[in-house]
This record gives sequence, C-alpha cells and structure tokens, in this order.
Amino acid sequence: MNVFGLITSFIFGAIIGSFLNVCAYRLPREESIIRPGSHCPKCKASIRWYDNIPILSFIFLRGRCRYCRERISWRYPLVELSSALLSLILYRKFGLSLAYLLFLAFLSALLVASLIDLDLQIIPDEISLPGILVGWAFSFWNPLIGPFESFLGALAGAGGLYLVGEFYYFLTEREGLGGGDFKLLAFIGSFLGLRSLVPIIFVSSLVGAVIGITLGIIQKVQNKRLLAIPYGPFLSLGALIYLFYPHLLNSFFGILFD
Ligand SMILES: [Zn+2]
Repeated sequence: MNVFGLITSFIFGAIIGSFLNVCAYRLPREESIIRPGSHCPKCKASIRWYDNIPILSFIFLRGRCRYCRERISWRYPLVELSSALLSLILYRKFGLSLAYLLFLAFLSALLVASLIDLDLQIIPDEISLPGILVGWAFSFWNPLIGPFESFLGALAGAGGLYLVGEFYYFLTEREGLGGGDFKLLAFIGSFLGLRSLVPIIFVSSLVGAVIGITLGIIQKVQNKRLLAIPYGPFLSLGALIYLFYPHLLNSFFGILFD
C-alpha cells in the first residue's frame, strides 16, 4: 500500500470531516450548507481559511475563537479526526475505487446522522431516504453485495426494526424507537445487505443497553422515567463494525447460537 495514497486519503477524510461538522449543525436548522462561510457562533466573526484547517487549527488556536476567545467544542476536531481515520481505513480496504468513495459517503452520512441524533433526537429524512437509493444504485458495483441483497436489506431494515420497536413497546409500554431509526437501518441495509441486519441490530441494542443502563445508574433515573437515548449512533456503530469486521460479528453469533 503506497504511503502517498494513505496520507492523501487521511487528509481528504479530514477535509470531509470539516464539511460534516457544518452539515451536522446546519442541516437540522434548514440552513444552506454552502453559504455563508464558517463563522464563530458567538461573535459571528468569519473564520479565515488558516483558522479553518481540519484538526490543526483547533490545536494552534488552543480550542478558542481567535477573536472573542470563546471555547470551540472538542467535537469539531474529533469528527475531523474520525473522518480522516475512516477514510484511511477504507482506502486500505478498497484502494482508490468507486467502493472507497461510496463507502466513505455512507460512513459520512452515518456520522452526520449520529451527531444530529445526539443533539436533537431526530434523524433527518434528507440523509436516509436519498441514501437508500444511492445504496441500491451502487449495489451493481458494490463488492460486498448485489442488487437483490441490497433491495432486501433496505426492505427488511425498515420492517425488521419496526418489529423490534413493537416488541419493545409491548414489553415496556414506551416508544423506544423513532421512525428515523427504521429509515436509517433501511439505509444501512441497502449498503451492507440483508445478512448484515441481525448482527447490526443485535450489537447496537447490546451496546445501547449497556450504555443506557450505565447512564441510568450514574444519573439515578427512576424506572418510569428511563432515559431517552438516541439509537442512531449505536446503529451506525454496528454498521461500522460490520463493514470492517463482518467475521467478528458473525463468529460472535456463532458462539451464541451454535
Ligand atoms: Zn468568536
């Protein structure tokens, strides 16, 4: 694997990450993601290009706005770094190819959806619905699955999680899953196929439950008022694990159900 390609994919991913931060902030506010340019949310000063370099500017500015010294959230460089690393790992897996670009778009969309879900407990349809179509169109070239499995993945993704939600409601009489979650899983199914869904639902529910219970204990929340934790980030995490380590999840299942 050539070093130049690895470095370029890392830098490209960091630039994409910078754009994803903008999307996560502006999409749910129905603001344009192109104009105006980046500005400080407090003093409104425009951010110059040299203060807008992914990851590095945060370090040079020591996490503060150059003009008003307002703290910049850690989330910005973290998202840029995550996106850079994802791009690098995808490049190692797929090389410079259509699969690299499309899976980078897939993971980028999941990252933005997760951030918005964490902030506002919604997953915008603008991400998942076009994403399903892109996932299915891409399936004709997708090295992991074909069009039929992509189609079934999208269909079962929406339907399967609906059943999980109904079962959860039956057990707890609380709405545990939002409509956005079904569409997000359909989006995941269109890229990763039907067979990915059960492992992804399983691992995301497990991780979500562990974190939910831990937070519940920390915050001493009473039974009746369980925390509403967004499920989108856990589904995305499950999809990420499945994309890079499908055997890990499959063999985990083997141990459980053999
Ligand atoms: Zn400022």
